[in-house]
Amino acid sequence: MSDGIVVVGASLAGLRVAEALRAGGYTGRLRLVGDEHHLPYDRPPLSKQVLTGEWETARTALTTPAKLSEAGIETVLGARAVAVDTEAVTLADGERLDYDQLVVATGAAARTWPGAAPDGRVHRLRTLADSVRLRTALADGGPLVVVGGGFIGLEVAAAACGAGLDVTVVEAAGTPLEPVLGPEIGACFTRLHRARGVRVLTGVPITSVQEAADTVAVRLADGTELAAAHVVVGIGAEPNNDWLTGLGLDDAAGVPCDARGRAGDRVWALGDVARWEQPAYGDSARHEHWTTAVDQAAVVAAAVLGRESARPPAPPYFWSMQYDVNFQLVGRPDLASSVEVLEAGEGGADRGTVFAFTDTAGRRVAVAAFHNPRRFLRLRRELQEEFTTAPSRP
Ligand SMILES: Cc1cc2nc3c(=O)[nH]c(=O)nc-3n(C[C@H](O)[C@H](O)[C@H](O)COP(=O)(O)OP(=O)(O)OC[C@H]3O[C@@H](n4cnc5c(N)ncnc54)[C@H](O)[C@@H]3O)c2cc1C
Repeated sequence: MSDGIVVVGASLAGLRVAEALRAGGYTGRLRLVGDEHHLPYDRPPLSKQVLTGEWETARTALTTPAKLSEAGIETVLGARAVAVDTEAVTLADGERLDYDQLVVATGAAARTWPGAAPDGRVHRLRTLADSVRLRTALADGGPLVVVGGGFIGLEVAAAACGAGLDVTVVEAAGTPLEPVLGPEIGACFTRLHRARGVRVLTGVPITSVQEAADTVAVRLADGTELAAAHVVVGIGAEPNNDWLTGLGLDDAAGVPCDARGRAGDRVWALGDVARWEQPAYGDSARHEHWTTAVDQAAVVAAAVLGRESARPPAPPYFWSMQYDVNFQLVGRPDLASSVEVLEAGEGGADRGTVFAFTDTAGRRVAVAAFHNPRRFLRLRRELQEEFTTAPSRP
């Protein structure tokens, strides 16, 4: 029997690429290998509906054993890939899985506070187990301190605030999300959370997080000390590619790939772990976006099957849900030199505001909407058209 295709990472990107390979007519052996014990599940609800208790965990499932078996996708779960060479992937138990083609879909891992005990009062949020553990912790009551005002931290703050907890968000930058979206949008999120009673402390780095038996002390550079029942650390994630040293693909910025996910001879990568060339922008970038993983799965499957047909991924798209506000973003805000309000919310409210991001050449590189899905949809289509018709940048 041929060794077939080995997909490492049994989550959104890995599952979707395996499904697309079968849908595209691939009939060889297809193995989906993952270090978690669960079948692939969806992560966005982990900081939203699962955390609030609105959803049972089972609702996050992305597939079923029956569907996998019908598609002829073999799963190897609870199996961590620790090394790789040009012939095989080595698992933590020493087993070697030979491959004809390797697809890397190992995602990213949430950073934690140095020295935090894995099952203590300092939490991070990446997996279903993290979400269930945090949900249980929140049921104890607060106070809760959220370290980092990124999307995951803010979604956790919204869920905890909704559950009636006393919540403080601490962000080292001038506003939450400022490093990725700039101060204007950051200010909208600050007002959103403050209006619900969340304390948002900005511009002050944290100097220490110290856990005791039933409390955690968070100290800030200005001398403030916050006492918390639990702390959630939301300070970003790093690509899970340290196991790819054998192929030279362990770059800290993500697995470098061409515009169709090719990382090397018979090796492909996609999703949160991968940094793809983006000819329309003249650079390469890694995105931790749900839609990017799904779009890239179609492109990689077609490329593995030797087809040219799959469209390149659309401009990156991301959404967040906090309280009753739906935030959406499309494009590359990291390439912008300025942000302007394209449409103000009714009566000057933040709700309904639409922002445009422009680069130094005057090109619109991203659009974001603070709860204005209809206008956003039109602008997203426009950006998509420009993206597909624009010549590649050098
Ligand atoms: C809490 C949370 C909320 C989010 N909310 C949103 C949102 O609202 N909107 C949005 O657009 N995106 C959101 N995202 C991002 C989105 O979920 C990710 O972009 C998506 O999950 C990426 O899929 P992936 O398959 O590339 O990576 P992952 O989902 O990270 O999956 C990678 C899998 O590979 C496994 N793995 C890692 N290393 C190894 C190894 N060495 N061997 C075997 N297996 C390994 C991991 O355990 C994991 O199961 C959210 C993410 C999180 C964590």
